[in-house]
Amino acid sequence: MIKWKNRSEFWITGAEIAAPGRKKPAPGCIHLKRGIIEELVWKKSVETDLPVLELDGYLLTPGFVDIHTHLREPGYEEKETIATGTSAAIAGGFTTVACMANTDPVVDDPSVVRYILDRNEQAGNCRLYVIAAVTRNLEGRDINEFGLLREAGAAALSDDGKYIANARVMRSALEYAGMLELPVISHCEEISLSAEGLMNEGYYSTKLGLAGIPAETEETAVYRDVALAGLTGSRLHVAHASTAGTVEIIRRAKERQIPVTAEVTPHHLTMDDSMLQDYDRNLKVNPPLRSREDVDIMLDALSSGVIDCISTDHAPHNEIDKEVEFDLAPPGMIGLQTAFALLNTELVETGKLGIAQLVALMTESPARVLGIPAGTLDKGAPADLAVIDPDEQWVYDRENNRSISSNSPLIGRKLTGRVQGVFVGGKWTSTV
Ligand SMILES: [Zn+2]
Repeated sequence: MIKWKNRSEFWITGAEIAAPGRKKPAPGCIHLKRGIIEELVWKKSVETDLPVLELDGYLLTPGFVDIHTHLREPGYEEKETIATGTSAAIAGGFTTVACMANTDPVVDDPSVVRYILDRNEQAGNCRLYVIAAVTRNLEGRDINEFGLLREAGAAALSDDGKYIANARVMRSALEYAGMLELPVISHCEEISLSAEGLMNEGYYSTKLGLAGIPAETEETAVYRDVALAGLTGSRLHVAHASTAGTVEIIRRAKERQIPVTAEVTPHHLTMDDSMLQDYDRNLKVNPPLRSREDVDIMLDALSSGVIDCISTDHAPHNEIDKEVEFDLAPPGMIGLQTAFALLNTELVETGKLGIAQLVALMTESPARVLGIPAGTLDKGAPADLAVIDPDEQWVYDRENNRSISSNSPLIGRKLTGRVQGVFVGGKWTSTV
């Protein structure tokens, strides 16, 4: 455990630093002053009269940024609260989180935006951005007052959990959001096609006798929204992309300079539909785990830049919700605390992805998608950092899980790479 008494000005020395834009981590030192990064020098030590935190053997990165989290408060505090969700976040190395609007009440009114920001201020774990709803009560009909929501602090707009079925409503939303320079995040799911589906449609859905959700459920929805982004010229972000076809649509849209970005979740990068053979309800997610081929293509799409970033889609549900028949279980898994360790274990350790690439995909890239000042180690940036032991093996279990919910297929799994703590605005919190 790293012991450190907070100070307003000091150096961190000795660590390997993974900075976005660099191919590999390298030894470096960072000068932090009043919550801001003052200087980064690429050498192992510095001569200074200031206090020094020696982090030999650790990996130092910008604090991770998650732009797709469900914190469940207000309304579903039995599943998660802002305090517990952000506590899980910092234990996973996240210093900035953006939370989705499908709470109760829905984030469709400035007072709810302010309430969430106030609650986060009280929790004091990390930075929080609020994603407000596109439509009143997520009903897909009446567009909210985006101007007032932005004034209250909303950073983006999304009806996540629901697809805005009416194309005219989506077009108007994009036009209005575009004027305010707010991105619209779309949960792309043509519900009339996925209706009764429980898992990816393919070999395993046939084998298991579970109703399938074809890839086209996602792709037809992505195609429409990309077309509308082209029509309006407004920023569209595709949430949880999961299929090869989606990658192809986004690749072509980017070639045509349509302002679209996309994210993929840690589970869609590491888990496939063959894993559902044990009917583990914690593997029931939306969009569903896809085929192995899709999983491989998602990884390629990250490397080539077609998919922009990694987001968790942290979705807490209680055990009682999941302890039902497979078809009744609500979709979703938690992921803030394990995102880095899972991807480090499955992708970095196996040589499929470089550690510096992974760090960039969890820091600078998601911050750029939302246009928020985070995820870099540039001079003048907020002093938000994650300190990681890249070799520590640990078991994620009910004891160290910080979420109220424990709906993760990784409970009991041994993972490699553990976040030791974070600096948020230069203030240290140990998380082990
Ligand atoms: Zn969604």
